[in-house]
Amino acid sequence: MSTPELEQILRLLQNLSKSHEELASKVDALTARSTTSNGLAAPFSTLTASRPSTSVTPNRSLAGGGIDTSAPPSPILTGTDNIPCGPAASVPGPNSTPGSPTNPADSLSHGLPSPRTGGGVDAFRKRASFSTSPSTGFATPRSGAANAAYGIKGMPPPGATTPPRKDSEGKKEGLYPSRVVLTTYPNQAGVNPIPINWGGGPNGQDRGPVICSRIKSNLPLRNAIGAHAGSYSIFRALSIAMGELRPDWRPDLRNTQPPFQLPPMPGWFGDGTGKGEEGNQKNWKIVSFDPFGAMSQEIWEKEYAQGLDVRPTIAQTKAHIKIEELDDLARKGDFPVDGEVVIKSSELAAFPGVDQGVEINTYKAAIDPVWFLPGIAERMGIEESTLRRTLFEDTGGMYPELLTRPDIKIFLPPVGGMTVYIMGDPAKLQDPNTEITCRPHDSCAGSDVFGSDICTCRPYLIFGLAEAIKCAQRGGVGVVVYFQKEGRALGEVIKYMVYNRRKRGGDTAAEYFNNTERVAGVKDARHQELMPDVLHWLGIKHITNLISMSNMKYDAIINSGITVKNRYEIPEHLIPKDGSVEIDAKIQAGYFSTKKMTGEALMATKGRDWEDLVH
Ligand SMILES: [Zn+2]
Repeated sequence: MSTPELEQILRLLQNLSKSHEELASKVDALTARSTTSNGLAAPFSTLTASRPSTSVTPNRSLAGGGIDTSAPPSPILTGTDNIPCGPAASVPGPNSTPGSPTNPADSLSHGLPSPRTGGGVDAFRKRASFSTSPSTGFATPRSGAANAAYGIKGMPPPGATTPPRKDSEGKKEGLYPSRVVLTTYPNQAGVNPIPINWGGGPNGQDRGPVICSRIKSNLPLRNAIGAHAGSYSIFRALSIAMGELRPDWRPDLRNTQPPFQLPPMPGWFGDGTGKGEEGNQKNWKIVSFDPFGAMSQEIWEKEYAQGLDVRPTIAQTKAHIKIEELDDLARKGDFPVDGEVVIKSSELAAFPGVDQGVEINTYKAAIDPVWFLPGIAERMGIEESTLRRTLFEDTGGMYPELLTRPDIKIFLPPVGGMTVYIMGDPAKLQDPNTEITCRPHDSCAGSDVFGSDICTCRPYLIFGLAEAIKCAQRGGVGVVVYFQKEGRALGEVIKYMVYNRRKRGGDTAAEYFNNTERVAGVKDARHQELMPDVLHWLGIKHITNLISMSNMKYDAIINSGITVKNRYEIPEHLIPKDGSVEIDAKIQAGYFSTKKMTGEALMATKGRDWEDLVH
């Protein structure tokens, strides 16, 4: 989509929003007449964008733009309710380019300073007493001079519990302000996102916080579209709708920080486009999540306490894993109990003297997606405007700011993320002399959890874990990454329909991919181009043993600048009979294997039909 087209759409949306505002104005005026006496609804006339802009203090702080609700009431803005739905006095002119930073002239026309001159984090940093720890390069928040001046007021303390809702109260007050903010615009009065320099560094404060909250006080500061926790944001909404959670609730983050450090790596920096400053060019890597996502609690501790809704998008912890097949392999002598990586499981009181197998010591991290849209577009080889439009259209129009806020470059998509399991010392991952075994695994609940034998997912996962354990025991590091990409990221509903089609069509390896394509339109939607981000986050520059036969994964890893020494296909003796259809089809399609497939052999590889299932 071309820039003029995008501008045209933007203008149409703004006009639409203006009509909405006029309508809302009439409704609010009517409501005000009946409710002003008890203060429940403010007259809309105090909220319009056409108010004189001179009353906005130019030298605003983080809480500027009128979000300090305890301040004397401003004729323009006293809270987020006051963000007008319609455009500001001036809309982007023909010369303004969507995606470019806010035009200072436009800002001045509202009497608002540019977010990059005097407002946002710059002012915030200036006033706060931060210092950079020389050992880690992380800025450490210090309790310094009073910062109340830029604190965000009117916020409940983090972790505040939700008082039970009384129905009469709920109806009277409502969950949200009476006016709905359908979308926002870059030049809109009051909107002033906190600057964020994706790929910037060297520490998290220089990079800036990811803010995607619609909490009243944070909405004007937001620099990300979407919602935290991926698809779970929908369940959070249900809890709010049920009165179990306040809409402005924020987590109590004390003691939630990681128990082990994964310090910044060169791959964290750069904007993902490869066009950054010198030095960034070679190191551009991470565009699909926030590398600083596990450190929010520490980097932004003070600001969070003051109401800035910056939340962790990564959580790291330590845990044991225990899987039956690993017990068997340990008993077979594949890996000894060393008390460090492999630990003997305790006896169960119910079964005295019975060997309970082993447990594996792991470090792990759960990562939620945070997309830097220009970097994602670059990686996929498409225009950013195309990416924004398709994300908007094909989520049912869920995120209009993808189109109306070209100045916001970050999107938290409603999809699953990934979990990293590390065996061995994570600090050794960046050492070029470390042996690294890696299995990037895409989720398959049917096989991984419930043991279906139609595919090889669980056996491959076990093989990857076993090799990772052995590598750690040799002094290397094993990494297994579990990506939430069910059914090649097409979903389980598609997947089971494909199973049905396969079973009704004779289920030959020759038809394996065709069946998927006929049902889903594509063979695969995993888009492995984004997969290596997590490897760069860990500081991995080489993989000694790649436990995967996927050419898509291999190509993505190599193209991202990581070297691979050895590739391992799943050993024949681990392939369930029904799973050979998948494996043979993949080999024919170019997956890595020492086995060669012929057309005849491909026709001969057949899965079980339904009648066999009962035997
Ligand atoms: Zn599977």
